[in-house]
Amino acid sequence: MSHDLQIWIDGELRPLAHASTGPLANGLHYGTGVFEGIRAYRTDAGARVFRLDAHLERMKRGADVLGMAFEPDRFAAGTLQTLAANNLLDAYIRPISYYEHGGIGLDTAPLRPRGMIATLPWTTHLGDAAVARGLKLHTTTWRRTPATSLPPLKLCGNYVNSIIAKREATLAGADEALFADASGFVCECTGENVFMVKAGRVTAVRHPDALSGITRATLIELLGCDDRAVTLDELRGADEIFVTGTSAEVTRIASLDGRDLGDSPATREIAALYQAVVHGKTELHRGWLFG
Ligand code: PMP
Repeated sequence: MSHDLQIWIDGELRPLAHASTGPLANGLHYGTGVFEGIRAYRTDAGARVFRLDAHLERMKRGADVLGMAFEPDRFAAGTLQTLAANNLLDAYIRPISYYEHGGIGLDTAPLRPRGMIATLPWTTHLGDAAVARGLKLHTTTWRRTPATSLPPLKLCGNYVNSIIAKREATLAGADEALFADASGFVCECTGENVFMVKAGRVTAVRHPDALSGITRATLIELLGCDDRAVTLDELRGADEIFVTGTSAEVTRIASLDGRDLGDSPATREIAALYQAVVHGKTELHRGWLFG
């Protein structure tokens, strides 16, 4: 990663090489932080950030759980400032607010957060080749952290659950892990929500332990599709499966637990529609673009 990259830290831009976190940062020890994953796209009018407001509202909900002060407007301005300082059009944006100062105790009262925003040149997180051929999905033996233990928000520590499930999937030769609950209902993937298509009908999988994805909400609004609980058995009988996320966008699933899915004509159409929207090609949805 380029050390010339400018990072926003508590309101100031600094080169990455001059940015560091102390070894006794509370967030480092316990994952006491909240982050977002946001995309900027090259549009005819320049760089535009997709649904920046919704991402920072979700981040605020995570900060509230941790009792952490967080100002969405300050992070919104910081995001646009950092994007411009790094001269980026297609970018991945990673804001994070974590407890840096105040010790390694478990009481949040003495803790003070540090805010950081990185804007990185865009590269696919799931891998170009995997996205192009469609993902091999593996149902993991791990359970998603239940919402009754940790709210499904982008709290840093919650992602250890995703990471160990992903590790199991990649060791099994798959690209991504699918979480199902003990009753056989589909939850989500490690960083994506799940959709299926059956007999031309699109369904967004709903689960109380899954992150309320902004891409998912975007597609439900665009498609007016079903939004309901789905069992693993029902998913296994789908004609098409796709996963959605800020990074994954709309990504086709090529196989589930070794069973190949066929061609994905509906997924291809939905992916194209999403690309048109995020790149500002549809008049109706320009309000989702910030910059
Ligand atoms: N689930 C999890 C666990 C995630 O980390 C993400 C990525 N933020 C998603 C779903 C998709 O959410 P979004 O569409 O808001 O990026």
